[in-house]
Amino acid sequence: ATPTSVMAGSGRAAEYGILFKGGEHLESAQQIQTVVLDKTGTVTQGKPVLTDVITAPNWTESDLLERVGAAEQSSEHPLAEAIVAGIRAKGLELTPTEKFENIPGYGVRASAKGQEILVGTRRLLADEQVNVSQETIQQMNRLEEQGRTAMLVAVDGQWAGIVAVADTIKDTSREAIGRLQAMGIDVIMITGDNERTARAVAEQAGIGKVLAEVLPEGKAAEVKKLQESGLKVAMVGDGINDAPALATADIGMAIGTGTDVAMEAADITLMRGDLNSIADAIEMSRRTMGNIK
Ligand code: ADP
Ligand code: MG
Repeated sequence: ATPTSVMAGSGRAAEYGILFKGGEHLESAQQIQTVVLDKTGTVTQGKPVLTDVITAPNWTESDLLERVGAAEQSSEHPLAEAIVAGIRAKGLELTPTEKFENIPGYGVRASAKGQEILVGTRRLLADEQVNVSQETIQQMNRLEEQGRTAMLVAVDGQWAGIVAVADTIKDTSREAIGRLQAMGIDVIMITGDNERTARAVAEQAGIGKVLAEVLPEGKAAEVKKLQESGLKVAMVGDGINDAPALATADIGMAIGTGTDVAMEAADITLMRGDLNSIADAIEMSRRTMGNIK
C-alpha cells in the first residue's frame, strides 16, 4: 500500500471510531487468522449484577451480605463492584474492613469485626481448607450453567454461602462474531471465569472455542501458544489483566470503554464497545492492501 492510501485508510477508520496507533497495523490487520476475545467487558457488557444469594444453615441473608460487603468494598474488581452495589440496593450498611487482600484470579480475603472472610472460587476455598459440601458445589454448577458467575463465601474457615452475579452479552456480540467467522477467522473466548459459566456465555455469543480458568498472567501465554502454532493472532480486551496479552498478540485491540492500561498496550483502540469494529478494522485493512475491492 502507498503511504497515501494508508493515511486515507486510517482517516476513514477513525471516522468509525477505530484508532490505529500506526499505519503498520492497518497494513498487517488483514493477516489475522484468529481472534481471541476476553469475556468480561468485551463479549459481555462488563456490568455484572448481583442475582443470587444462597445462605448456609444458621446464616441469614443480611448477616452473610454484611460479611461479603465488608470483604468486597476494598476490591476494584467488576465482580466486587456488582456485589457491593447489590448489597447497597438492599439497604444494607457496609461494615468497615480491618484487613484486605486481593488474590488475583481467585477472589478476596478480608477481616471485619474480628472475623476472617473469604469470597471467591472453589480453588480459593479448597486452598484455605474450607469444607464445601457436594450439594453446595451442585448449586454452584446450576448457577454457572445459566452463565452466572458464582462465588463461595467462608467466614472463619466455615462455608457460609454463595453469591452469584450475571453479566449479559452485548446486543451486537453474536452478530459481530458471526461476521468474523464468515470472513474465515477463528474466534476464541478467553476468561479467568470458570469453564461452565464461560461455555454458557460463549454459546449465547455463538463462540465454539473457550479457554476458561486462565489466570491473569496466563492470557499472554495462551496467545503466544497460538502464535507458535503458526497463526496470526489478534487479542481483544478491556482490562488491566488483558494488557500483556494485547502487547503479545500480532494485533492488540482495546475496547475504548475499558481501562487506560489496555489502551496503552494495544495497537488499535475500538472507541465503540461494539465488536463489529473488529471485522470493520480487518476489512479496512484488506481494502487498503488491495485484497478486496
Ligand atoms: P475475568 O477474566 O473474568 O475478569 P478474573 O481472572 O479477574 O476473571 O477472576 C477469576 C475468578 O476469580 C472470578 O470469576 C471469580 O470467581 C474470582 N474472583 C476474582 N475477583 C474476585 C472478587 N473480588 N471477589 C470474588 N471473587 C473474585
Ligand atoms: Mg474484561
